[in-house]
Amino acid sequence: MIVMKFGGTSVKDVAAVRRLAGIVGREKRPRVVVVSALSKVTDALIETGRLAETGDANGAREAVRALHRRHVDMAALVSLPPRRAELLAATDALFADLEAIVRALAVVEEVSPRSADTIAAFGELASSRIVAAALEDAGVSSRVVDARSVLVTDAAHGAAQPDRAATDERLLSLVKPLVDDGVVPVLGGFIGATAGGLTTTLGRGGSDYSAALFGAGLAAEEIQIWTDVDGMLTADPRVVEAPRVVPRISFDEASELAYFGAKVLHPSTILPAVRLGIPVRILNSHRPEAEGTLIAREGAADAEGPAAIACKRGVTRIDIASSRMLMAYGFLRRVFEVFERFRTPVDVVTTSEVSVSVTIDDRRALDGIVAELRGFADVSCEDGMAIVCAVGERLRGDAQLATRILGALEGLPLAMVSQGGSRTNITVVLPDALAKQAMESLHRRFFEKEPATSGATA
Ligand code: ADP
Ligand code: ASP
Ligand code: MG
Repeated sequence: MIVMKFGGTSVKDVAAVRRLAGIVGREKRPRVVVVSALSKVTDALIETGRLAETGDANGAREAVRALHRRHVDMAALVSLPPRRAELLAATDALFADLEAIVRALAVVEEVSPRSADTIAAFGELASSRIVAAALEDAGVSSRVVDARSVLVTDAAHGAAQPDRAATDERLLSLVKPLVDDGVVPVLGGFIGATAGGLTTTLGRGGSDYSAALFGAGLAAEEIQIWTDVDGMLTADPRVVEAPRVVPRISFDEASELAYFGAKVLHPSTILPAVRLGIPVRILNSHRPEAEGTLIAREGAADAEGPAAIACKRGVTRIDIASSRMLMAYGFLRRVFEVFERFRTPVDVVTTSEVSVSVTIDDRRALDGIVAELRGFADVSCEDGMAIVCAVGERLRGDAQLATRILGALEGLPLAMVSQGGSRTNITVVLPDALAKQAMESLHRRFFEKEPATSGATA
């Protein structure tokens, strides 16, 4: 059995869902389908909650109605009149509920994390019904299963953690029997519920997590993540012109890349599957014939250079120099305690005898952080920096690779350079305005020896 997860871009409109139905229909293995909300819908739902919170009842209502219309338009997918009427009735009912909830919240001008989850869940509740109806219409026997009755989580609204044992039990009692009967269950990703039945969400991009949890619980032979690019690419297609597909990548490499901006998926979310050795494949729903990327415990054995490069833009560098001549022990602890108190994660760290430099991405607490650090150190900050990193297991075994990577960046003003103990990445920090140039130089050096074989989106 396999799990097929379709991201927001793969369900964004009638044409996309038709493609999805074709892909699921051609697959002959027993399968479970997991879907995201139609693209941008989760953003719109979150914005609707914000409008309600400010008491803008009219704005919130209009936002719900616009979403309702977008979902009603999707019913054009279904040709059989009674089935279309059924989908429309279910869609109308969902959005009537949502409108009532939002109206009530706008009156009290308060949206708790619990209410925010209730609102955000409507995207996947609606998309899963649409996809199940479209599959039926395409002749694939399928049934929508409310993911909230399957994915049991704690009550950490907005970033709920699954109760694996309880979820596995529900998978075996509610989902597996359908698969055994030759029916394709369709579940919304991203959403779950507490044991007491309160709706929760796993955090943004959480549908990948749902797919991994379902795949692990059902002992799937493969998990497919269908998206709008050919797989994990050697660089972000929005930064580098013609990135190539990475055919195979290790879980650790994919994790590092995701952390530094290659957000095709959040690898930590596929950890449940990787731990069990279930291969995860990233595939392009626009070009189903493309090979995609396989994420497995081990990466490509024949990799010559880095597996891929990534960048994270718009970060701030903070230089913290000990006011005394040399760095006393305890200095680093005091520095990092400040970041901890302000709940601000640090991305890259480099140290020298007298100073430590860090980058942060979240500037909200910057003034407070700097004020506290100035109590015991000289501090200077620089906005508009970028992190560029090259990732590859090969860095561990090939002593020259780090030098070759830095060589490709010759002439660029590197403000920080770091190679971690795990030695699967080389990370540099430089002015954001030069990030694209740095990415392009690295890409040319390591990935463009032969003409690129396949582009990004079809
Ligand atoms: P989905 O809606 O399917 O979940 P996402 O937007 O979450 O899709 O992820 C796919 C997007 O990730 C691609 O459209 C691409 O722009 C972006 N991306 C960034 N870096 C990379 C990379 N290295 N490889 C592939 N995609 C990347
Ligand atoms: N719809 C959710 C989001 O946009 C979950 C997902 O698509 O993975 O964050
Ligand atoms: Mg995604």
